[in-house]
This record gives sequence, structure tokens and C-alpha cells, in this order.
Amino acid sequence: MKSLFCVLLMMVCMSVFANPKKSADWQRVTKLKITTLSTMLASRGIGEWGYSAVIEVDGNKILFDTGNRPQTVLQNAKDLGIDLSDVKDVILSHNHGDHTGGLVTLRKALMGKNPQALSKVHVGKGIFHKRVNSQNKILKVKSDMEALGAEFTLYESAHELFPGVWLTGNVARIHPEKNWSGNGRIETENGILEDTIPEDMSLVFDTDHGFILVSGCGHAGIVNTMEHINKHIHPGSITTAIGGYHLVSASDTHLAWTAKQLDRFGVEQMIGSHCTGIDALYSLRTLLKSNRSQMVVGSVGDEFELGKGIKAGFIAH
Ligand SMILES: [Zn+2]
Ligand SMILES: [Zn+2]
Repeated sequence: MKSLFCVLLMMVCMSVFANPKKSADWQRVTKLKITTLSTMLASRGIGEWGYSAVIEVDGNKILFDTGNRPQTVLQNAKDLGIDLSDVKDVILSHNHGDHTGGLVTLRKALMGKNPQALSKVHVGKGIFHKRVNSQNKILKVKSDMEALGAEFTLYESAHELFPGVWLTGNVARIHPEKNWSGNGRIETENGILEDTIPEDMSLVFDTDHGFILVSGCGHAGIVNTMEHINKHIHPGSITTAIGGYHLVSASDTHLAWTAKQLDRFGVEQMIGSHCTGIDALYSLRTLLKSNRSQMVVGSVGDEFELGKGIKAGFIAH
């Protein structure tokens, strides 16, 4: 009897995993456009060590990270003819200044036109924890933003922000990707620990062409993040990876392992911006037997559009 129950349970599990499309609860986005606003390369606008992208998804506009220097994202958006005053929701992937440096400037510049502009800030649990041997600059950003009427929401687990639009929340580090410096220490409820940037979270879009992933600096690891998506959001291919993945210093062995895992998850397209590393992106392209229209180095103003794919910047095409 017990073994019959196990077989039935296995059959149910297998059918769910094999046919993720059949769940009525899973909503998918139908319109999606992602435009890079801060990264190193730029043939339009300003390049910098940092990351930001603006996302238009089914009538909502989201800003993911805010660049490094206070003016970069504001200026690049102007240069690209993109209005950010109708963006209410902003996501900070983690505390580092190269992702959070533009937030206060943007709020100040845009709230006159729209009081709701950048007023809802979504962050992962751990972002406000005290860092022992360095200043956690996000605390000043938080108090400045709150003084300007903005609100922060903290996430520990995966959360559906809009239908088919997911925040990963904190990501378990099951594979030793170790995408952080190793020098930092963080004060947690379990004492002082190595600062693994526990708050690092990504944004995921569920589409008819699989999941589209946007990452800021990839401190949680691209493979760990993909494992987390399949475990905590739902199974299915992750076809597209956009943003920073912190592979800039990865060894050839680690890149070969990463490529194998990306292949397993179904990755077909990639815009490797910021800390992904230029050489690392080209190595992954070779290892995955991909090509220059499917896997490109990110640059300011480049685009990904659902149904159309990647439009690389001139410098990276
Ligand atoms: Zn970082
Ligand atoms: Zn970064």
C-alpha cells in the first residue's frame, strides 16, 4: 500500500515538473522590455562601474538598481529619451554603492513631476545589517529616502510583485560560487559572520519563452539563483540572463562548470553587463556554442524585448 502511494506521488510530481504550463495559478507576462541604464560600456550616454536597468512589463515600469554615480542613470535616461518619472517601484539588488548610488538623486529629481516616482523600494533581508569593518552606506540612503517620503519593503522569500514578475528574495548558496570579496564581516542574529551579501536578490519574469532573469551583481551566484527559481518559484527553463553575474575573475574551470549548468537550465540568450566580465561573457558564448546575436556584452541603451530578443549596443554588436 505504502509503495503504491509512493508511485502515485511520484507520478503526480513528474507530471507537474514535466508540464509547468498546466498550472492555472502561474501567470505569465506578455509584454516585456528591458533597457540597460548603467554599466561599463557606452556608445550612448555615460559608462561607469555600476548597474541599472529600466523594465517595462505589462503596463508597469520598474527600475532595477540605480547605478553608481548619483547622476548617471538620470542623465543616461535623458540621453536615451526614457521618462523615469512614471516609475513607482525600484528594486535594489543589494547594498553596494555601484547599485544604489543614484537612488536619492533620482527621487529628488523626479518627485516634483510625480510624487509617487521611486517611492516604493524593494530590498532583500540583510541589506540593512551592520557591516563590521566597513560602513553600510545604504543606511544613509534609507534615511534620506524616508525623509523624502519613500517606503522600503523587505523580502526574505520569493515574492510575486506583479502577475508573473517575481523577486527571488534571499538565495541559498548551495553551490560554492563565492561571488564576494571574503574580506567583509556582517552582524546577524547568529553573531558576526563572513559577509556573503545575504540580501542579494534578482528579478524574474515568467513568460511563454521561459524565465527571463535580471541580476544586479550576482553575489548569490548565477547557478544558485537559477536553482532557487526552479525550487521556490516553479520549475521550467530559464532562457535568458541579463545583468551582472560577477564572473569577471572566474577561472576557466569555473566558467566551464557554469556553462554546463546554464545549458542544463536552458539558457539561450545573455546580456552580460557590469561584473559579468567581458572575457567571461565571450568564454561562456564559446562554451555554449552560441553566437554574437544571442550572447552580448551589456552596454548603456541596449535592449531585450520579449519576442524580439536582444538589441545590442553599437559598441557590443
Ligand atoms: Zn556588489
Ligand atoms: Zn556591482
